[in-house]
This record gives sequence, structure tokens and C-alpha cells, in this order.
Amino acid sequence: MLEEVLNYNKGFVERRKKQGLDKEISGHAQKEVMIFTCMDTRLVELVEEAMGFGRGQVKVLKNAGNTIRKNCDDVLRCIALGALVMGIKVVFVVGHKDCGMKKLTAEKIRQAMMERGIAENVIASIDLEEWAGIISDEAENVREAVKAIKNYEFIPKDVKVFGLLMDPNSGELQTVQTE
Ligand SMILES: [Zn+2]
Repeated sequence: MLEEVLNYNKGFVERRKKQGLDKEISGHAQKEVMIFTCMDTRLVELVEEAMGFGRGQVKVLKNAGNTIRKNCDDVLRCIALGALVMGIKVVFVVGHKDCGMKKLTAEKIRQAMMERGIAENVIASIDLEEWAGIISDEAENVREAVKAIKNYEFIPKDVKVFGLLMDPNSGELQTVQTE
């Protein structure tokens, strides 16, 4: 797979150079927007395109199920940094229908861990459901993430946070949480 990627990359870089697409752009989000969404493969490219954003315009954070739990400090830290030093003014939490994190169970993860040689005492040391970020309802999970972002002390209060739910096939958005 590595070789395949590197081979493809050679041609890709050539094409970009020929098209003049290789010029330097700012790492600052032109639209001052950050999106926090799920790592679901159906959302790759779809989320940005469906919202009208392109390369250079927004920052995108992803994890399994766009969850913010006790063990997801990283998400809050990135949003806080985005707001404090990268000019982010608006955060969209974009959950999606048919999320895999709703179908997942603690038992399934436990089984997989056992089969792949994770030590039993290690498995017993965590709350699997919390650790994995299993969700019971996609919309409610978006609302919880919005709440966690709004309650995080390091994120300035003037940052606007909205919650949306996307259809992973059509890309249609539904509002879950407004200001
Ligand atoms: Zn998902």
C-alpha cells in the first residue's frame, strides 16, 4: 500500500505543478470556521463540499462518532487553540445518520481486544463504552458535543457553536442545535 501511494503521489504532484496548483496558501482558515465531524468514510470530502467549503477555508477535526467524552480532551484543546490563535469564530459539530458508533457495543470491542491480544487487566482498567465513545442517538450526541464545547473554559464565549446532522449519502444537512 505504501508503494502504491508513493507512486500515485509522483503523478499527482506533477499534475498539480502543471496546473499551477502548487503555490503556497495560508494555513489560516479563510472562512474562520472549524468543523468537528465523524471519521466515517462516507463523509470524506462530502462534509466540506456539502457545506460549500474548500481547501484553505476551514479546519476539520474528526474522530469516531464526533464524540467528546472525558477522554477526548484533544478535541476541546484543538477547538480552543483554533479560537484563540487561529482566528476561528464559528464551530460546526456535524454528526451523521447511520453512525457506526451507534451500532458498536462494549462487548464487541472487548471481544476484538481479547482476540488481538490486549491484556485482560488493561481492558478491565477502562470503561469501554466511555473509552470508545459509543453513542445511543446521533442528534443527542451532537447536542452533547455542542454543550461540551460551550462549557469548556478555554474556548472564548464569543465563538459560535452550531450542531448539524448529515445524511451520509445525499449530504443533506439538518439543524440540531442553533445558538
Ligand atoms: Zn459516524
